[in-house]
Amino acid sequence: MAAKRKVCFTGPMRVTVAEDILRAAGCELVMGKPQDDFRNFRYERKELVNLVGDCPIIYPSGRDMIGADVLDSCPDLQAVVKSSIGIETVDVEAATELGILCCNSPTPENYLGVAEATVGFIVALFKRLKLNEAVIRDGGWKELHNRGTLMVGRTVGIIGVGRIGRNIAKRLAGWDMKILGYDPYVTQETVASLGVEMVPLDELLKRSDVVTLHVVLTRETRGMIGMRELKLMKPTAFIINTSRGPAIKEAELVQALNEKIIAGAALDVFAEEPFPPNNPLRQVDPSRLILTPHNIGANPGSGEAGQKMAAQSMLSILEGKAPDTVVNPDAIPLWRERFWS
Ligand code: NAD
Repeated sequence: MAAKRKVCFTGPMRVTVAEDILRAAGCELVMGKPQDDFRNFRYERKELVNLVGDCPIIYPSGRDMIGADVLDSCPDLQAVVKSSIGIETVDVEAATELGILCCNSPTPENYLGVAEATVGFIVALFKRLKLNEAVIRDGGWKELHNRGTLMVGRTVGIIGVGRIGRNIAKRLAGWDMKILGYDPYVTQETVASLGVEMVPLDELLKRSDVVTLHVVLTRETRGMIGMRELKLMKPTAFIINTSRGPAIKEAELVQALNEKIIAGAALDVFAEEPFPPNNPLRQVDPSRLILTPHNIGANPGSGEAGQKMAAQSMLSILEGKAPDTVVNPDAIPLWRERFWS
């Protein structure tokens, strides 16, 4: 049975690559509230279900949550396809039970962009870039106590040794640093050639001079770093998060920074986005905290590449072929049975 060539864009974006490809392929598009102009907008369940209607595919923007209640109320729905790597805004477990495919779009433009940016954060923290920039702007000059740290021989701890984690290890290979990894789903053998030593989480926290998070956000990783973990770190150590905000208990990180339990942090992702004006992170000493608006890995081409990959996944699904971007392959047999037999 052929599917309707119809896709619901819950939050159309300014970059229109996916739109253009799908229209050119003869698809009908149902458009929701533009994401870039209404970043804080939230759909009611009924409103979202009505918008999706009989579309076989939802293409949600980063703003919109696709929960079990929505998936369950859209009988024609075959797939939810994201243009990003993170897919935690979709209830993948519920989708799998319903035979609905979930796809992400892990493009090199995206994951290499984040890996490069993370190395930049590591250097900026060790070299005390923000502190010294502020000193000179304030009319000051070099002082012994403002010096940075030599990175040679220091230890980097990578939590989540997937695409981004591995590419950071690869990029740091020539820096003569020690690289530790923690990831319960990755074996030592698969990362040995990258010079990564896999260790338990607590050991990584205790030994690292900089800890950097690259986990997918799941029930297991949500809040995996809190005060207990921060207290295991050296008081001279830094923490970086370019993965997803909720992986760190943000209030506990604020306390750890304010009480100098750790030396500093660099964050590109937050518990609540866009970053609210009253977020207590704004009150932390800025010379020890780098904040970027969830765009440190972005580059001209990254958004476009994600949309192109997503559009290709959608066209493949509309032809009855499961693309290799499916993150829940267990859903494929039921998807075939429900929609393509
Ligand atoms: P990936 O799936 O390749 O790697 C994630 C790794 O996390 C996997 O190796 C997985 O085994 C590991 N993991 C799962 N549960 C874990 C646990 N309990 N403890 C430790 N590790 C665990 O994903 P990726 O492409 O490397 O992306 C990593 C993260 O970066 C994702 O959260 C993604 O959403 C985020 N991301 C952020 C940006 C940004 O703009 N800041 C851009 C792209 C990706």
